[in-house]
Amino acid sequence: MIYAADIILPITSPPISDGAVLVKNSRIVTVGKKSDIVTANPNEDILEFRDALLMPGLVNLHGHLECSSFDFLAKPTPFPKWIRKMIKASGKMDRDDWLAASRFGIKRYLEAGITCTADITRTGLGIQAVAEAGMPGIVYIEAVAIDNNNLADAVVNILERVKSAESITRSGSFRLGLSPHSPYTLSQSALKICAEISREYALPLTIHLAETQPELELIKDGSGSLASMIGRGLELEVIKSKGSGKTPTEFLDDLALVNESLIAAHCVHLNGKDIKLLKKKNAAVALCPTSNELLGSGEAPVGKYIEHGVRFGVGTDSIASNPNLDLFVEARKVRTILAKQTGVKENQIPLSPEELIKTLTIKAAEILGLNSELGSLEPGKRADFAVLDYDNHTSPDPYSYLIENSSNSSIVYTILNGQIVYFSPSNSFQNFQYG
Ligand SMILES: [Zn+2]
Repeated sequence: MIYAADIILPITSPPISDGAVLVKNSRIVTVGKKSDIVTANPNEDILEFRDALLMPGLVNLHGHLECSSFDFLAKPTPFPKWIRKMIKASGKMDRDDWLAASRFGIKRYLEAGITCTADITRTGLGIQAVAEAGMPGIVYIEAVAIDNNNLADAVVNILERVKSAESITRSGSFRLGLSPHSPYTLSQSALKICAEISREYALPLTIHLAETQPELELIKDGSGSLASMIGRGLELEVIKSKGSGKTPTEFLDDLALVNESLIAAHCVHLNGKDIKLLKKKNAAVALCPTSNELLGSGEAPVGKYIEHGVRFGVGTDSIASNPNLDLFVEARKVRTILAKQTGVKENQIPLSPEELIKTLTIKAAEILGLNSELGSLEPGKRADFAVLDYDNHTSPDPYSYLIENSSNSSIVYTILNGQIVYFSPSNSFQNFQYG
């Protein structure tokens, strides 16, 4: 099959006008000018997208598919209160609800052009939804609410979940990972064991890190609004001993959790020393600006991450703190934050539109260790594409066009593993020619 569009955006090579991608057995064979590819492959079917741009599908570096029915929680709420509401809402869910929510989340991803996920699952049902969709990425089994009273049972439970997921991941398109939820919802012993399980089973890590000011207070002094809430349900050493005197990043590093397999989500409240530590250990950051904005958590020091060469990508987080799941909006918010932090105009920030689009594609794929499979249009890679409305009269530069204009609603087709898995009802078959 030949997929043709006004603009093909391979990401790792320059944009191609009147371009095409030849796909065989769900893999990219050639990327180039439509005329060349059609001439060289006269018997191949052509799917032509008009007034459209075709690019690799987007990579979401932080999400919780199974929370996709919690849109009613996506209201400005102080973080400890929001966590309490999450716990209450979770208590009303049964197995079927979690699975339905996970499947709904996948549907929303495909509508948003997202074809690769770094997803966290507490129930394990997120694994099923990702496997059914054939979506590549990493699905992290979550460990949460573990103190020394339930440690032994919790460790057995984690290991059982890892074992039972192994057969699915062996045949699926994604890898398994481990997600200790945060520095403040597991005891130090539990966090340490998570680091050991991650090493033993070669499971990459993700964790919520330094998301809020109350988290800093809890870890450093054992006090604050989050400490009083968490302390009611969990016996944590760090609260009992009136704090560790450390930042959350130093605290995790002492427990061997900061390493090159780690994607630390949010990372809003890091100081210069913390940022150097992330760089030294080659850990990556998943920025979640909409979620941070909604819950009043603050803005991540993106300028410092760039200055220190910390690897970062962008995540939506769950629908419970980001009802739109729109990675183009997240990229624009990163740009606004950077402009504010560096004191320059948005078109002068130290991250060009091209680099911003790369953080949604190839750079994120590199962080997941999946860049030989996806993140750009190159021979041998997966045929996972996002096709967007593109009016090429408005901007000569497709990267700027995407950053300035695009959103969820620009996605007209999403192709996963060489199959059309979504088309926009408003655009269906009007800008599409099959022949
Ligand atoms: Zn999260």
